[in-house]
Amino acid sequence: MSAKIYYDSDADLGLLKDQKIVFLGYGNQGSAQAQNLRDSGIPNDSILVANREDSYAEDAKSKGFHVEHDFPTAAAQADVLFLLIPDQVQPRVFNEEFAPHLKDSAVIVIASGYNVFYKLLNFKPSQDVVMVAPRMIGSSVRSLYEKGKGFPCFVSVEQDGSGNGLTIALALSKAIGATKAGAIASSAREETAMDLFAEQALWPQIIMLFREAFSILKEAGCSDEALCYEMWMSKEPAEIFERAAEEGFIAQLKHHSTVSQFGQLSGALALNGDATREHFKNILYNQVLNGKFCKEFSKIEADLEKDGPENPLNELYRKSEQSELGQAEKRVRERLSGLL
Ligand code: NDP
Repeated sequence: MSAKIYYDSDADLGLLKDQKIVFLGYGNQGSAQAQNLRDSGIPNDSILVANREDSYAEDAKSKGFHVEHDFPTAAAQADVLFLLIPDQVQPRVFNEEFAPHLKDSAVIVIASGYNVFYKLLNFKPSQDVVMVAPRMIGSSVRSLYEKGKGFPCFVSVEQDGSGNGLTIALALSKAIGATKAGAIASSAREETAMDLFAEQALWPQIIMLFREAFSILKEAGCSDEALCYEMWMSKEPAEIFERAAEEGFIAQLKHHSTVSQFGQLSGALALNGDATREHFKNILYNQVLNGKFCKEFSKIEADLEKDGPENPLNELYRKSEQSELGQAEKRVRERLSGLL
């Protein structure tokens, strides 16, 4: 299955002429995308940053942007609204302070599929909802643009109220620099499925594999210091993934010794993935795509603001740090603090 890829030549910046473009949020993505858009030739007077009165707002002002602290006032002006505040606060802020004041013809731009896939935002049928989702942190979105390079990005139309959703999505993608290297046609469903799958299926397995590997090797007499360095502190895993991105997931193995290449390839081929496939499918279909996680997460969301053990995330950290790996790393870091 191959996806369509859109380039600068597929997009027309002229569609953004005389459009008031409002950025709700001037954080990680908001600051990078607003600056890229302005540097692409969108006049400063056509851009408005909506932000509470604090350091983010000050930062936007220091970069010369017009800033509005009153959200309903900002909403009423928006022809295009970039929704760039954290996902967990979007439903409340958007539904209560923006949605009632937006024009019927407004274009709403999301940078993550979560709230749209799970239908947590209230749009009017006449509005366009498009996804322009960089696959990079904001500082890279900005620095790559400044270097004249593109960055990976997903683009989709989630609601085509105007009938022109795709052309406007592509114009906005081009304006933030996302079509330079090619923006990949995707969807809120695809983006959410891949994101949450990685977070809830793939990375938990990787954490578990490191935890168990650490424990077995420690049992066999390996020292905490040697294990921490061997397994991650040397940054070897980071280098492997960097080479995988640059040269190929399998091809990067050629940088390793022959013994290592033989061990890794024969070992991986000998593993039966059936049980893991079943586990992965269960997470994907019965936790992510069916909305179960989203429903359960929304119940504990308010507790994540609390301090101490009442915050479920603090509890998860506490338990994870109690593992052999967590305890050993703490000791090693204290002892080797001069070297790290
Ligand atoms: P940030 O955490 O950087 O957002 C900070 C901004 O949100 C600030 O302007 C902050 O202003 C505002 N904000 C925070 N809480 C509130 C609130 N309760 N009410 C109003 N404004 C608030 O967000 P990101 O840039 O990381 O994420 C924005 C979107 O981009 C998300 O959908 C995310 O999934 C997506 N995304 C993020 C990536 C990343 O690298 N982080 C990568 C790709 C997509 P203040 O607190 O002053 O009000």
